Amino acid sequence: MSIEVKDLSFRYGRITALDGVSMKLEEGAVGLLGPNGAGKSTLLRILLGFLVPERGEGKVLGYDIRREQALIRRAVGYMPESDCFIAGMDAVTFTSYFGELSGMPRQEAMKRAHEVLYYVGLGEARYRLLDTYSAGMKQRLKLAQALVHDPKILFLDEPTSNLDPTGRVEILELIRDISSNKSIQVLLSSHILDDIEALCESVVILKQGRLAAEGRMADLRAIHYSLYEVRIKGDGGPFREDLEGLGARVDETADGLVKIYMPEGGDRMDIFRAAVRAGVQLRSFVKSRTSLEDLFAGVVGVD
Ligand code: ADP
Repeated sequence: MSIEVKDLSFRYGRITALDGVSMKLEEGAVGLLGPNGAGKSTLLRILLGFLVPERGEGKVLGYDIRREQALIRRAVGYMPESDCFIAGMDAVTFTSYFGELSGMPRQEAMKRAHEVLYYVGLGEARYRLLDTYSAGMKQRLKLAQALVHDPKILFLDEPTSNLDPTGRVEILELIRDISSNKSIQVLLSSHILDDIEALCESVVILKQGRLAAEGRMADLRAIHYSLYEVRIKGDGGPFREDLEGLGARVDETADGLVKIYMPEGGDRMDIFRAAVRAGVQLRSFVKSRTSLEDLFAGVVGVD
């Protein structure tokens, strides 16, 4: 097991960021999914030893997160969400500096810096000042500094943030290449389900500092419930309560579409009967494909 944590809790002052999270991560690319504020970055920082948990324990590659932080940082590459650039530096100097921080001798760090910059597509721009880099180039540079010391695991925190569609596809392709060809395990944190679906074999979903769901993508896609989308005329309150009494989850979007997640065993007739009981008219009725996106919405709640 590459990463294992038990009962992890962390607070920033009065804000609880993690609340009793336990999990064991499988081999292969793992997604850490959750809306903004769910605690993903905090979890990564605890795993790296940058933050000390208030409660709980954990291991990364067998190293203890409280006592063996230096060993963890040598074995893990970290691409933070926020920029970590030093003004007035060029990419080679910056990347080799991070190699040295991870314990590499200077010459080796410099040699590797050139290699990884070519690998992420910044070979031609490696002597340019970072201040002149575009958003896409900056993301690739952050990836290069995370790879320079040849880590066994890569932690990527929102790697596609601030990117245009082309930049996003490019960075996702690089990450896919790393995880499939370079025998580096990837832990990808994102609030974007598409990114996780594109790259990961399993996923851990966090919500408000707690574990909301976890499993292999293939299994989660197969979770059984049925999603119906309806529009109604009349008072939606009693209709909703009736359905919730049957174990359904009901979400209403801003434009009045009512999404009904019926549990296994429930069907459309239950919805028709609930409408009759509540005295509302169904104006339209569509059964939607149940996808992981629906599951994510169902677990995490629709904003
Ligand atoms: P995510 O990465 O999923 O967006 P974070 O781990 O960044 O979530 O944040 C979890 C919670 O902790 C949020 O409520 C956030 O506002 C809070 N938080 C994060 N960093 C700080 C900080 N440095 N000081 C105070 N609160 C913080």
